[in-house]
Amino acid sequence: MFDTIIIGAGPAGLSAAGILQEKQKVLVLDEYFHAGGRLLGQLYEEKKGKWWNGLEIARKLVSDTQDKTEIRLSTSVYDVELDDTYTVHTTSGTFRSRHLIIATGSREKSNPLPEWDLPGVMTVGAAQVLTNFSRVRPGDKGVIVGINPLSMVIAMELGYADIDVAKICLPPENLLSTQKPEDAFETLVSLGHSAPSRFISTGAGLAGKAKPIHPAALKLFPKNGIRAMGLPISIKEKIIRINGTEKVESVTVQKTDSKGKPLNGKTREVKCDFVCISDGLAPLSEIGSLLNLKHVYAESLGGYVPLHSEMMETELPNLYVAGNVTGIENAKVAMYQGQLAAHKILGDEDAAMRSLSAITHERKNAKVKFHKDLLQGRETVETMWREIEKRKAE
Ligand SMILES: Cc1cc2nc3c(=O)[nH]c(=O)nc-3n(C[C@H](O)[C@H](O)[C@H](O)COP(=O)(O)OP(=O)(O)OC[C@H]3O[C@@H](n4cnc5c(N)ncnc54)[C@H](O)[C@@H]3O)c2cc1C
Repeated sequence: MFDTIIIGAGPAGLSAAGILQEKQKVLVLDEYFHAGGRLLGQLYEEKKGKWWNGLEIARKLVSDTQDKTEIRLSTSVYDVELDDTYTVHTTSGTFRSRHLIIATGSREKSNPLPEWDLPGVMTVGAAQVLTNFSRVRPGDKGVIVGINPLSMVIAMELGYADIDVAKICLPPENLLSTQKPEDAFETLVSLGHSAPSRFISTGAGLAGKAKPIHPAALKLFPKNGIRAMGLPISIKEKIIRINGTEKVESVTVQKTDSKGKPLNGKTREVKCDFVCISDGLAPLSEIGSLLNLKHVYAESLGGYVPLHSEMMETELPNLYVAGNVTGIENAKVAMYQGQLAAHKILGDEDAAMRSLSAITHERKNAKVKFHKDLLQGRETVETMWREIEKRKAE
């Protein structure tokens, strides 16, 4: 019997373990063969000359926990039951604990387009792990389908590895994908502080003054795209199909107007040998569903998240959540959330409040923000939590 089982050895799970292990018997479970979660692929410049090296941070979190915490890798959790204690069923056996933390992170979303099953087509996250963790080039010249903070960050990382990105465009419009030039423009504006592009800083100014996005800024956006952050970005072009016989050879690009409507006859081919598809991230909340937790839908958190308090509690006794399973944010927030859940389990309210302040501070100052309306999403979940707590008290 363990005091606490943590599902997920990412930054949230390992940070929780680092605190709990001083007073408890802790087990961390992860289905991947290496601990560190999505930290493993992350590499970007936070401030001039100050790099966020996820691999190094993961190594430190592992070396801080491996002596006192049991970490079982290549172990998938497929069911959890609550009796007096939690029973966790995994591919390496069944384990029991008094407390449980769900820190399963997020998954990538990707929308289909013709010939997306050709060798050489992958998600941006796969390209990130290949390049930064496995040290394998995904190819020599890539095209990225989808403009969002994740695809932009990873496109920059490919550049650091000297891999050519030929184009970053919108996906084709279909039932699953409705990204419009104005959505992509908003993404670029939200990254404006890190984008050394006069066009984007001007756009950021306009967008700040007028909502929705100033139509003039969209109309003025050059038809063939711009170079920002060293990347060839095009919001008035969509990639409508991938071409190749044995593997990826090129993509077909369709020009559009500023509303995303295709311009007749305006297509061209762009040569490439790999394609990355990206439609953002969604919380991996299946374990919460297995326990019948109530879930809340918030677009700005990435989709359905288990109902939880700002102190990471859930409706079930001794069950906590931490990290991207509660909404898509960066790895620092995930680490503070893991620490907060651990302090709550140990009953250290002062330390828990300090972790909460650190989360608030990081949310304000984060270099990578996944959604501009994140705080609204957080408020939706909090409001529902307070209503349910009030009803219980009545
Ligand atoms: C592809 C991708 C790229 C990202 N890139 C960036 C980036 O560049 N910068 C940034 O700030 N953020 C990035 N993120 C967001 C990132 O998720 C957070 O920064 C941070 O890693 C979240 O930490 P976490 O501990 O909540 O989850 P994760 O780091 O995702 O860790 C969760 C762990 O849980 C394990 N797990 C899940 N389900 C199970 C199960 N059923 N059984 C056992 N183990 C399970 C997973 O294997 C994983 O190791 C990225 C996310 C993804 C998906």
